[in-house]
Order: sequence, then C-alpha cells, then structure tokens
Amino acid sequence: AEWTPDAGWHDPRVVAYGPLSVDPATAVLHYAQEIFEGMKAYAHPDGSIRTFRPYSNAARMQRSAERLALPRLPEELFVGAIDSLVRTDAEWVPSGGETSLYVRPFMFASEVFLGVRPAKHVTFSVIASPAGAYFAGGVKPVSIWLSSEYARAGSGGTGAAKCGGNYAASLLPQSQAAEHGCDQVVFLDDVEHAFVEELGGMNLYFVYDDGSIVTPALSGSILEGITRESVMTLAADLGHEIIERRFGIDEWREGVRDGRITEVFACGTAAVLTPVGALKWADGDDVAEARSSDGEAGKVTMAIREALVDIQYGRADDRHDWMHTVA
Ligand code: PMP
Repeated sequence: AEWTPDAGWHDPRVVAYGPLSVDPATAVLHYAQEIFEGMKAYAHPDGSIRTFRPYSNAARMQRSAERLALPRLPEELFVGAIDSLVRTDAEWVPSGGETSLYVRPFMFASEVFLGVRPAKHVTFSVIASPAGAYFAGGVKPVSIWLSSEYARAGSGGTGAAKCGGNYAASLLPQSQAAEHGCDQVVFLDDVEHAFVEELGGMNLYFVYDDGSIVTPALSGSILEGITRESVMTLAADLGHEIIERRFGIDEWREGVRDGRITEVFACGTAAVLTPVGALKWADGDDVAEARSSDGEAGKVTMAIREALVDIQYGRADDRHDWMHTVA
C-alpha cells in the first residue's frame, strides 16, 4: 500500500514477488527512513495456518513509525496485509519440524526527494519466505562477544524502534564477534558502559539458582521483543519469579563464575530461545571468558522454549490467546 498526506493509505494489493523499481533519489536510500517487523506463520495439525501475536507486531510497528516520523499504519491494514499474503502463499507454509513461513512487513520513505525531512510518499509492503529449523542439529548454546567499543543505540536514539539503521550500526561489532569466534554480540548501555542491553537481534534472560529469572529492564534503547514478553508470561506460568531490572555486565561474569546464575538464554522470533554458553571479552591483548554452560542447553531454558514452541505449532492449548487464524 502507498501513503501520501492527501490520500492517506491507498492502493492495497497483492502482486507477484519481483524487484521494486527505485529512483536513485528515493529518500530511504539516503536517509534510512525505514522500519520493519519480523514474524512467522505456522501450519497447525488441524490444517489451519496461524500467525503468532500479530497485533503485538502491529503495535510495535506503530511505535517504530512514530519514532521514524513515518505515518500511522492502522492495525487492520497491517494484520490484513499479512493475512492476504499468507493466504496467497498458503502452499509455501512448510510443515514438519520447527519450520514456518517467515513474514517481513516493512515501511519506507519512497518519495523521490533529496532533503532531510519526513517523506511525503511512503510505501508499506510485506514479503515472506519459508524458514527451515533454526537449530538443524538440536538446540546448541551460542557464544557471545562483548562489544566494549560500540553501542547499538544511544539514549534518545532509535534503539527501541525496529529500524534498519540500528542493524547497520551493529554490523561492524557483529563482524568483530565473528572474528573472535563468537556467534553473537552483546551491547551495553551507552552512558555507563556497564549495563547489559541486548544482543544484535535477541533479548537476554538470566536464570538464578533460586529459580528467579532476571531480564534487563526496557531502557528506551532496547527493542521490546515479542518473544521477550511471551517468555515472561510462560516463565511465570511455570512458577518462576521474573525480575526486570538494570543488569550489570559484572553480575553476568560473576554470577556464572560463582554458580548463582545457572542458565543464560537469548530469545527472538528466529531462534525462539537459544541457550547462551560462553561470554567473551577483550582483556588487554587477551580474550577472557565466563562460561554458563558445558555445551548443553539448560533445563529451565528448554522447558520455557518447549512451552512456547508447543503453542506456536498448535501442540498445546493456546491459553493466552496468542495465535491468530489466517486460513
Ligand atoms: N532485539 C533486537 C535488536 C531484535 O532485532 C529482535 C528481533 N526482532 C529482538 C530483540 C527480539 O524481538 P522478537 O522477539 O519480537 O523477535
């Protein structure tokens, strides 16, 4: 669909996948006025196709739009567009194992204009692609590189929005993580450089030996994950106390070393829940590490993961009313 100040949102349509034709002076290419969402559609055993909490994605897209000075997108247009595309692509929704149809809604400044002001022509689009199981050989802990040089987002910046620019900023630290043999990068707050924010694309949780679970409180620069919120609900269902608070990087290092933190996991739409093994950081010219797992996924992590995946794949009662029937 297209948006202009006079006509509002108009011309919604489903078209065959293909290249967009963009003028070289299209605003998004120069000023990155762009936001997106990521979600999945699942084939259920009863033959239905369902998406997970699309109204939560709609609400987050709304908050991102506001921060990026993009127009309001009515939630019926957002959810309706996804429903239409998934129905059209129904035969592409895989079934079996942890497979799904990944859905990517995005909105960008399509006005042809070189100048720094909100665009007066905006395009909203949705694409989709079948996604295989994230963990093909079983769930395995990931290793994390602590980025001490770079922040993902600053206070007052766009960290709480899902905009492309945040990911552009995380590419260099992410490649530094890879150079140190790590799978993911963890970012700290940009003021005190002491508090854990999140990974490049996942939120973090710390499981303590008394059963309580701590997650970094939303700081204004953390992306409010829909999986993060769902985990909070399911962990509480399983009897865990959930604590949202500022969480120091030293608490992570010391907690896993003295055994008070028994499991660390990260969560997001792509991997659902993934155990975190080693945390590594630069210590002068050396690399130091703190390990929270011996290569195995923790019990609490796997119990919460299973509770969530069972709802998403229609194997358990949808007691929180999270699944949205598309077809
Ligand atoms: N943080 C960041 C920076 C992300 O890109 C994502 C993935 N969208 C998440 C957290 C997790 O969010 P969600 O659970 O909604 O996928």
